[in-house]
Amino acid sequence: MSVLIVGSTALDSIKTPKAENPRLLGGSASHAAVAASFFSPVRLVGVVGEDFPRRYLTLYRRHGINLEGLQVVPGKTFHWSGEYEADMNRRRTLLTELGVFETFNPTLPRAYCDTPFVLLANIAPALQLHVLDQMRRPRFVVADTMDLWLNIALADLLRLLKRLDGFVLNDSEACQLTKQTNPFAALQRIHRLGPRYVIIKQGSHGSILSSPKGLFLCPAYPVPRLVDPTGAGDSFVGALMGYLASAKGSIETHIRRAMVYGSVVASFCCEGFGLARTTGLRRGQIDERVKQLEHLTRF
Ligand code: AMP
Repeated sequence: MSVLIVGSTALDSIKTPKAENPRLLGGSASHAAVAASFFSPVRLVGVVGEDFPRRYLTLYRRHGINLEGLQVVPGKTFHWSGEYEADMNRRRTLLTELGVFETFNPTLPRAYCDTPFVLLANIAPALQLHVLDQMRRPRFVVADTMDLWLNIALADLLRLLKRLDGFVLNDSEACQLTKQTNPFAALQRIHRLGPRYVIIKQGSHGSILSSPKGLFLCPAYPVPRLVDPTGAGDSFVGALMGYLASAKGSIETHIRRAMVYGSVVASFCCEGFGLARTTGLRRGQIDERVKQLEHLTRF
């Protein structure tokens, strides 16, 4: 089955203590779409400006990503810039230029409206709602978010939460949303806001799922040499949704393994700048790391 993914399609300028790389292919939807493409057909919804390099469009196509929902319009592509501190766990946003996203109001291609799996990757919640409004009875809808929207668009986000099957956020966002520092308490609070499946990401410490069948603790794959963690969270949720869309049977049956696949694709993402490592992957390499992770956590 296919996955529809809406989110930012961006140019990212990234600075780490070791290197600096301007205007890489980035954005929540780009990372999520490439990650999902290893498992299922992907339909991308986003907007880029005329400055968007053609080679990035070629890269999406090489992953079989359907671009009928990607608009190319006059103006500048969303440009984000961030800088990592020495320990690579802390990131500072240096610049966010919305560009063509400022006026983006997507009308989905007709064929997209019946997509069974919907990933509302990180973008303004009003835009996530606008896309969801156009979907006809999707099977499983998951959204991601970021602290910015908790700060400036909380009412929209709360409206969105009521309509989701699943919600993915990181530990500091969960704390900000619920005022609970304990992630297990935060998970219970977030269920009350709507979604049946809630995942709190904890970076290199893995992630926690709370679902109707209880909790699952998903490990992170160990990465000794972090190059650039940008997009790891998007890769996690993209791979998770791609895997679920490829699996026959209930969500509950497959969601734990889907998270493990998410963890593994996120680990690859961190090993290169932007999408460099992820776009060079083969499915066999992903399966191999999943096996290693199984071995590392079995007891
Ligand atoms: P992550 O590292 O998973 O938090 O995701 C980083 C990605 O989010 C980068 O590729 C950015 O282009 C994208 N991004 C940064 N700020 C925003 C924003 N305000 N809205 C949507 N996407 C963003």
